[in-house]
Amino acid sequence: MHHLTTLDDYSWPTCGPCGRQLHQDELGRVACRLCQDRADNALRQLPGPSGLYASLAARLTPGRGGDGPVVSVSRTAPLPVRLEPLSLMARGGVVTILQAWLVDWHEQLGWRHPRWEGDLQQQLDQVVQALRINLEWAATEHPAFADFMQEISSVVRQCERQVTGERAERPIAVACPCGTTLRVTVSTPGARCRGCATQYGRNEVLDLPLAHRAAA
Ligand SMILES: [Zn+2]
Ligand SMILES: [Zn+2]
Repeated sequence: MHHLTTLDDYSWPTCGPCGRQLHQDELGRVACRLCQDRADNALRQLPGPSGLYASLAARLTPGRGGDGPVVSVSRTAPLPVRLEPLSLMARGGVVTILQAWLVDWHEQLGWRHPRWEGDLQQQLDQVVQALRINLEWAATEHPAFADFMQEISSVVRQCERQVTGERAERPIAVACPCGTTLRVTVSTPGARCRGCATQYGRNEVLDLPLAHRAAA
């Protein structure tokens, strides 16, 4: 009888972002199709006149489109500005994060540097469109697709929180059987344990026992 030690060592390829085992027809891809769809859904929230990015503007000043009471302000007094939506809207925020990824993708593909045109809203619309057009390539081949997903999911969640006034998701500490504490949120796509390198999918990681505070 043969010993099938090589089979024991073999591990089926998994999706970078969520850790799920890839389907037959997904083999060779960096990310599974579900994760590609998730990334596309996140990107689609942002552009357009009724998108999250445009909606941030309504949250800049308390009392306007916000949850606070409507205050009447004299014409000469400057309105207090909320900093969180501003930091997402300004250069260095959402638009810059997405543009940095598009520059990176162009470099990976050997294309020339993308050009930005128009105001920030127009640039946002353009960069989202360009990323979505190339998403299939990125989810198939880009080695850093998991980082891309994490970053855009996080930035979209931040925008959502500002627009809806929702509070930040609280991180949950769960315990890996190896003793390492993992900090995740309910919307996590999955996590890799720093201690034993086990890759958990979303459901698996949320099934882990809660870690004791003292162990965190
Ligand atoms: Zn996946
Ligand atoms: Zn572990």
